[in-house]
Parts: sequence; structure tokens; C-alpha cells
Amino acid sequence: MVQLLLLLAVAAVIGYVQYRMGLMRMAQELEAKSHPLEDPKLLAAIRRLALANGLGHVQAQVFDMPMVNGLATPDGRVFVTTALMQKYKIGLLSAEEVASVVAHELGHVALGHHRRRMIDWTGRSAAQLALGVVLNRFLPIIGFYIAALLGAFVAAGLSRRDEFEADRYATALMIRAGFGAGPQIAMLRKLGRMIPNPQGASWLASHPAVDERVAEIEHNAAAWAA
Ligand SMILES: [Zn+2]
Repeated sequence: MVQLLLLLAVAAVIGYVQYRMGLMRMAQELEAKSHPLEDPKLLAAIRRLALANGLGHVQAQVFDMPMVNGLATPDGRVFVTTALMQKYKIGLLSAEEVASVVAHELGHVALGHHRRRMIDWTGRSAAQLALGVVLNRFLPIIGFYIAALLGAFVAAGLSRRDEFEADRYATALMIRAGFGAGPQIAMLRKLGRMIPNPQGASWLASHPAVDERVAEIEHNAAAWAA
């Protein structure tokens, strides 16, 4: 028992350090490969979100990445990727649709998901290692695989929960800013088509299926309208 607790503690520390190192790498990459977003129409749309959110200002940047994606840092900065900006520039995406990605990312910030992800990651990796060690006594080697599989399953569930929450926040913000839920739904549908194999793409791997997200957004928007 004492051994197991010790193992859990060590695993938690390792998980925490791993997570912090990942964050530091990401912060360095964001710093090195980002520039301010300067498109006037997009800036105006983001300003509307910021006002509706009571923030006054949202710092938006373009992150050099070949994948359509949006992300945010815990300090509230929001990033859209160059790939996403390209689709916007050629008219495949409207300013309101890009704004819905920003609204989703603002949701992650406002709901404290960065901190929660760190706790989830640390807890899950510790539990996974401890379970692996226990299972390994009965099922050598396979025990670790079973624990890893269960860990991945739990991680996917936690990530889906965060995504639905951020979507819900974004829908409310888009409605309050006067855009309505339409652009958010259109954006998700377009993303589903842009990425030929949504399940294989990293953006959607941690995100629930497009149809599920759209259904949830429609449900929330209708509930608030009523
Ligand atoms: Zn998200």
C-alpha cells in the first residue's frame, strides 16, 4: 500500500513536470512563430466579441501552422493559424465564422480549462501508471497496455467535456455579440469537409464529431431563444 502511494506520488510529479515542459515548449513556439492579426474586418468582429464578453480587448495573433486550428494561452491571448487565415483570405470562411473559433478559444480561457487540463493530465498519468503496475502483476506487459488504453479513453472523455463546454460558451457569446449561432455551426460543418478524415486529424481527434457538436449548439441556441 505504501509502495503504491509512493508510486502514485512519483507518477504525479513526473506527469506534472511533463505537462509543464510541454506548455513551455508550446509557449516558446507560439512566441517564435506568431505575428499580430491585422485584418480590419476580423479585428472588428473580434472586438465585438471582446465587448460582449466584457473584456474590452482581446489580443489576437496569427500562428504559423499548416493546420486549420485555433488556440489560446492561459493569459487570454487567442491564436488562429495561418492555414485558417488562408481559407478566410480566399473567401472560404467569413469573418463571423473565424470569430466563432475565437469565441470557442475565449471559452477555454474563461472556463479555466488550461488549469483543469493540467490537473487532468497529472491525475490521469499517475493513475495510469499505478494501474499499469498493479495489472502487470497478473498480466505481465499486457497490463501496461490495458492501463494505457483506459488512460487514453479517460483523456478523450475529459477533452470532449471541455470542448462541449467551450462550444456552449462560444454560442452564448456569439449570440450576445449579435452574430447568432449560425456562423459557429457553418464553421464546424466547413471544418468537417475541409479535413477529409476528421477522426485522423489532430484538431478533431481531441474534439467530438462535428454532427454531435452542431446538434448540441442548436439545442443550446434554441433553449436560450425560448
Ligand atoms: Zn477547443
